[in-house]
Amino acid sequence: MIQTPASAALPAFAEPAGGAEAERPLWPAIARGWRQRCPNCGAGPMMRAYLKVRDTCPVCGQELHHHRADDGPAYLTILIVGHLLAPIMIFLFTAWDPDPLITASILSVGCVALSLFLLPRLKGALVGVQWAKRMHGFGEPLPAQDDRA
Ligand SMILES: [Zn+2]
Repeated sequence: MIQTPASAALPAFAEPAGGAEAERPLWPAIARGWRQRCPNCGAGPMMRAYLKVRDTCPVCGQELHHHRADDGPAYLTILIVGHLLAPIMIFLFTAWDPDPLITASILSVGCVALSLFLLPRLKGALVGVQWAKRMHGFGEPLPAQDDRA
């Protein structure tokens, strides 16, 4: 039995009559991906391990194996963590001039913790973007919807 959060009450994005050409909402898909939930239904878990994306959503059947996140989540994580910690480091050294070893220790822990927090969330968000923009095979209809065509 899969535990579903409160967002499970949200319906899956219904495919309108436009079929494969219809636009999917981008920001809800990014938000669902950030929460590591299926970008289609928001209920099924996207990840089967820390960074492993499931092949299909166990709730709605959306195929997730089309994603090509590649180095994108790592790039975004480095971009965000670097832009947060570099100014903090400069501020610390100009304002208080603390012992470099203590500062390096504290900032290293912060850097690793923030990176580990952001990496799976950014990967989920990136998969959400790819799903919403129908990239890499995400534009194909769900297997259960094939009989509508
Ligand atoms: Zn789903």
